[in-house]
Amino acid sequence: MNYTLPPLGYKYEALEPYIDEHTMFIHHTKHHQSYINNINEAIKDIPQLNKLNIYDLIQSLDEAPSNKKIFIQNNAGGHINHSIFWIGLKKGTLPYGDLKLAIEKEFNSIENFKKIFEMQAMQHFGSGWVWLILKPCGTLSIISTINQDNPLMYKNTHPDIYGYPIIGLDIWEHAYYLKYENRRHEYINAFWSIINWHEANERFIQQI
Ligand code: MN
Repeated sequence: MNYTLPPLGYKYEALEPYIDEHTMFIHHTKHHQSYINNINEAIKDIPQLNKLNIYDLIQSLDEAPSNKKIFIQNNAGGHINHSIFWIGLKKGTLPYGDLKLAIEKEFNSIENFKKIFEMQAMQHFGSGWVWLILKPCGTLSIISTINQDNPLMYKNTHPDIYGYPIIGLDIWEHAYYLKYENRRHEYINAFWSIINWHEANERFIQQI
């Protein structure tokens, strides 16, 4: 399998003023592309890995040769995480449907969900991602992962934060620094205006 850069499905300026055109362009064409180039190169001679779709690949890291495992984990994670991120962004949608009900059940209200998500994003040290995941037991949880780790990688290593990603926020500085500089909280706050709740709800109902 040769992974390719998925199109955004919208213009680079579509998320203005919450995420600026230049950040989106660099993030998509440079950062994401580079994870794809790296993962294609890393697995091209590993037959047990190079025919897998990206979801299966990130759940098969134990099959990677030990000297390449971290590199594959980082770059396969970079590819899947950004693929989830782009499709998860859209202006003008609101929480609805089964996912809204499940969030209200788990976190009492959408407002409280946002508060906990923001806290997780602010407390996460360094680069990483914040996620709303659906755990195998059927409950929603807010977690963060380091580097380019995806919560689906954690079945055996960190079962407490293992689950299917419903919403993901990139909190690497490359995701926001050109516009927000060190003001991570402003970027996190802007995220609430560009979550694609339709995509999030679809991801949720496909798993329940
Ligand atoms: Mn990124």
